[in-house]
Amino acid sequence: MFDPQRFLGLDEMGLRVLSWRRLGRPDGPGLRQIRCEPDSHDARWCPSCGAYARVRSSWLRTLAHVPYGDDAVHLLVRVRRYECVPCSRSWSDDLEAVGAGRGVLSVPAVMWALRRVCLDSMTVSACARLLHVAWAVVDRAVRERGMLLLEQADRFSSVRAIGVDEHVWRHGAFGDRYVTVIVDLTPRCDGRPARLLDMVPGRSAQVLREWMQARGGEFTRRVGVVAMDAFAGWKQAVESVVPHAVEVIDPFHVVQLAAARVTKVRCRLQRDATGRRGVKGDRLYDCRRALLTSDEYLGARGRARLMALFAIQANRDLMLAHDAYQRVIHAYRCDDRRRGERMMRELIDDLTGPGRYKGCRELASLGRVLKRRMRDILALSRPRCTSCHTAIPAAASIPRATSTISQYTIAFIPGAPIAAPGSAGRPSTPSPELGPPVGAGCPVTNAATSPAERSSIDKAASPAMPARAMLTIWSFGGRFCTSSPLPLRDGTRQASRDS
Ligand SMILES: [Zn+2]
Repeated sequence: MFDPQRFLGLDEMGLRVLSWRRLGRPDGPGLRQIRCEPDSHDARWCPSCGAYARVRSSWLRTLAHVPYGDDAVHLLVRVRRYECVPCSRSWSDDLEAVGAGRGVLSVPAVMWALRRVCLDSMTVSACARLLHVAWAVVDRAVRERGMLLLEQADRFSSVRAIGVDEHVWRHGAFGDRYVTVIVDLTPRCDGRPARLLDMVPGRSAQVLREWMQARGGEFTRRVGVVAMDAFAGWKQAVESVVPHAVEVIDPFHVVQLAAARVTKVRCRLQRDATGRRGVKGDRLYDCRRALLTSDEYLGARGRARLMALFAIQANRDLMLAHDAYQRVIHAYRCDDRRRGERMMRELIDDLTGPGRYKGCRELASLGRVLKRRMRDILALSRPRCTSCHTAIPAAASIPRATSTISQYTIAFIPGAPIAAPGSAGRPSTPSPELGPPVGAGCPVTNAATSPAERSSIDKAASPAMPARAMLTIWSFGGRFCTSSPLPLRDGTRQASRDS
């Protein structure tokens, strides 16, 4: 037998159940409406003169509560207004402990939604459907409560290694396209997943410099390793704020640089041969994926296609680019870090010297980039930073930490223009017999459904963007949980991109 008083934790909230009913089909998800009122009569004594007040009026406040099984639960709380006859003062029941401010969600429901969105990767719209409230209600509640917790949490105190990368978070004409993502790689040193530290709008040396400076002297003294891509801005910022830190270019971006050269050569050869870009049916175009697949994963058919392609004399540059690309992957795959370092050194020498890669201009430019950042690329083969003894996270961990987490983070920003599939501003679809979702008539929700006003909201919300993004970092009792539930993809496949 369903006992709302016990099952819904109403005792702790100081509510007494008056009656309840269930709406909806018996075999499907329904809505349980619980009529209740504040249990205590303390509010009845006049705060000024101490006289026993009379109840002047009352009304029902609807609060969405934690779902019970598949059923949404709404508390219809009777709020009383009291009046003191001797001093003509009036006041109402205090419901701050039940539902903060004028919010639509009860306090436990806000925490429930936070856990679902931030820890279980549930979409905002799925949460809204389970709670039977409007999408904007959950979005706003999760954002506000989450930010409050983030501000309280001490998430920078143990950071010794960070990773920096940029991410395109917005494709519209307005505002910054990029966001700088900073992850904490310290947990990687003992095999735990990296965690997201912060997201800052923009991508420049200044953005990173200001972020690091804002963390204070103790933070910058402690950080001993910074993993990044080949963007010179990060290097400048790191050299100016944490000059003692070891700079590491992570393998993902080195592999990506080499992959980009393969694609560039392929596109050039295609244009030279046909005077246009590749289309389906062109041999070069059809081999685009096989060219970017690590030879460990290439099947017999793919191998045969590549052999046929490389047999053509005109494709010599492509063969060379493919060879250099595979050598980069092999250097990182090598279990022996010292041997991997040697392989990478030899490759860079070959790319910049007069040897086998001579004559291919794309590879010459790759060689120049790798040579310039050779120290940072090879830093990965060092087990520990010599000054602070921070372990340098092993190969293959950094790319996954930076690239996958940034994707994961952006994907679950509630309300962001590129939110997770199925969550972006989509209203929840309630069954008609349950009535409209709570909060569906509020101006925020209505604005969010009109494209013109929606864009103005995006503009207005723009400065708060990192606030939205940061909600994916979420702390329970000071412990962060940012392990990505998404399948980790192979770095070589991530790098594949066609022009
Ligand atoms: Zn009074």
